Amino acid sequence: GSPLKPQAQEKKQQASPPLPRQNSKAVPPSPPKVITDKTRQQDFFRLHLLGEGGFARVYQVHDSQKRHWACKVVTKDSLKTKKAKTKLYAEIKIHRALEHPNIVSFQDCFEDDENVYMTLELCPNGSLMDLLRRRRRFTEPEARFFMVQLLGACHYMHTHQVIHRDLKLGNLFLDANMNVKVGDFGLAALIESPGERKKTICGTPNYIAPEVLFDTANGHSFEVDTWSIGVILYTLIIGKPPFQTKDVKSIYKRIRDNEYEFPAEREISVQARELIQHILTQDPQQRPTLHEILDDEFFTHGIVPSHLPNTTHNAVPDFR
Ligand code: ADP
Repeated sequence: GSPLKPQAQEKKQQASPPLPRQNSKAVPPSPPKVITDKTRQQDFFRLHLLGEGGFARVYQVHDSQKRHWACKVVTKDSLKTKKAKTKLYAEIKIHRALEHPNIVSFQDCFEDDENVYMTLELCPNGSLMDLLRRRRRFTEPEARFFMVQLLGACHYMHTHQVIHRDLKLGNLFLDANMNVKVGDFGLAALIESPGERKKTICGTPNYIAPEVLFDTANGHSFEVDTWSIGVILYTLIIGKPPFQTKDVKSIYKRIRDNEYEFPAEREISVQARELIQHILTQDPQQRPTLHEILDDEFFTHGIVPSHLPNTTHNAVPDFR
């Protein structure tokens, strides 16, 4: 079978460059304890807060059949401008159309007087960012496991004309079986005609492709996700993003100059180095395709675990 077929067996800091957004707004009131979807006559019981993003708060909820979900809550106060509404509608339109085992599944959306709610598949193991913080870095077999699933999801999105534009460890969630689930389609774009180019500068500083920043006249397309995948692979294995420095301006300078290195004290396979270098090519047209990435020796000449045990949370799993 195609290696890009779904692999699963059964997140977050957001910013909009050039400068990360400031969160100066007052804390909105909590959504009700019982959230009601009037049109479907369904109640959701609010449990704890799972996390907060740029404009949403996400709670764990359960329905009357005790099924658990993540519920993304956006206050209507934050949707007063036409721009904010358009952005949320775009996120909903794109996310609800996607169905893939490595993409957070979109259940439903509804509203009450105060908020708009989106019920999503619950990812009880947090994001790959949370996991990396605990583990500091991953072994190459673990990186292959996460990457194969991410590549499958990304290939699916691209064949459905969707560019995610904010792929990063904080937006890669983990289900109960440690499978990757791509989430947060808040910056995603739909390519509506072949060859269409996107011009909006968006993404997260560490993961943003050079053409988004420095080829604004020409615009960008699907290859921006490939770049982010290269940054993700480096970050999984090394433990910090390649272009990371003290401030956003110098991160952008390093991205422009393709300035990053592999720490000398670490043993990193030549296959991993070469694949990262190949993906992090300045010219988007020269970057490998997602198929080429999966066919790379990094994947074909190393262990790709079929699953990761839950002990992965705190220790290197044993793959034999
Ligand atoms: P925003 O679009 O406002 O940035 P996100 O979709 O990134 O919001 O969600 C914010 C946070 O909520 C995430 O970082 C994560 O901690 C949590 N979260 C989001 N979706 C889920 C989910 N499906 N399962 C579990 N936690 C989630």
